[in-house]
Amino acid sequence: MSGAPVRRTPLPGVLEPAGRTIGAEERAAVLRVLDSAVLCSTFGGETRALEAEMESLYGRSAVACSSGTAALHLAVAAVRFEPGDEVITTPISDFGTVGPILAQNGVPVFADVDPATGNLDPAAVEAAITPRTKAIIAVHLFGAAADVVALREIADRHGLMLIEDCAQAWLGTTAEGALLGTFGDIACFSLQQYKHITTGDGGLAITADPELAARMRLFLDKGWDRAGGRVHLILGLNYRMTELTAAVARAQLTKVGAVVERRQERAAQLVEALAGSTHSLPGLPNVGLPALPGHAFWLFPLIVAGDNKRWADGMAAEGIPVSAGYLDRPLYANPVFSGPVYGTSRYPLDRDYPAGLCPNAERLIEHTLVVLPWNEGYTKTDVLDIARAIRRVHDDG
Ligand SMILES: *Cc1c(COP(=O)(O)O)cnc(C)c1O
Repeated sequence: MSGAPVRRTPLPGVLEPAGRTIGAEERAAVLRVLDSAVLCSTFGGETRALEAEMESLYGRSAVACSSGTAALHLAVAAVRFEPGDEVITTPISDFGTVGPILAQNGVPVFADVDPATGNLDPAAVEAAITPRTKAIIAVHLFGAAADVVALREIADRHGLMLIEDCAQAWLGTTAEGALLGTFGDIACFSLQQYKHITTGDGGLAITADPELAARMRLFLDKGWDRAGGRVHLILGLNYRMTELTAAVARAQLTKVGAVVERRQERAAQLVEALAGSTHSLPGLPNVGLPALPGHAFWLFPLIVAGDNKRWADGMAAEGIPVSAGYLDRPLYANPVFSGPVYGTSRYPLDRDYPAGLCPNAERLIEHTLVVLPWNEGYTKTDVLDIARAIRRVHDDG
């Protein structure tokens, strides 16, 4: 490190007001619900209104629930596969992408990823298909589109459901401008504290298929068809969103467009500052930058030559903490995939998940992926600081 750190004050983050868009609208929403005394969505209007507003935004029926993980559980349950059936997904994601597969007694099958983006490689997905495969869950990692055109085509050709995990990709699009979340049979969103918009916790699932929407609604409410007496038609849990959460979500949903736009503007500024195209400064030959079109910039990934821990140390010393690799390990290297799942049994797991299973994913996590926190609260000056820190760490390498 050369001299004083680039940055002495922390950048706006997701655990403080400066890094979130919580304001007067959210405060009024909470008070409106409290004053009504109806806090449960079965009896109030906020959750139904949120679903209608999400439907206007995405053009698909929306089902609100208690978290992104719950939304994925609704989606996986709606596939209605047999115990022991397989669902193909990515090793680089939040655990919420795979927990629901296990909860439905399915076997997660991990396909490797593109080393430039960390998103599922469609060829690896197709190679992992067996007669037991019933669904694919694609994650739009950090807000960049997975190749959903190819994945949709593969799913159709093999008769599989495609679920899009859009938890990191609010309003993201493909490079051609098609909205992410409209390719899958179901797409899932999260309102957790760290996401583009937040209610602390909360989730939404969207679908164009009324049958899938109905199954998800039953699953989130104890299998209880409220129109037909106290009768439980299927196994279901209680994943209902509360009215307090829905009211805050409605206010946050009005802001998500501006949040994504601001993140994209600042990301474009950083790419320009690093790419060396319009500046006198040269580009950084050994650093891969994200492609801008359609990227929702939940986080800002860099691909480095193989020394991501040096980058993390260097950036921390410059006052801009980043993550080396995003995860500690690929999802399949977590103890749940080698130890017991239920009681002392590994059921439904019927295979080992050895090191080396997905070499591209392992290399990203261990060596080449550096992830910068990203936020709509960043100013142009903040981005210039980030660019300066990156140049310094780069030049020290
Ligand atoms: C956050 C996240 C989830 C889980 O959402 P929660 O609301 O935290 O349960 C699932 N998948 C991805 C890709 C996520 O980023």
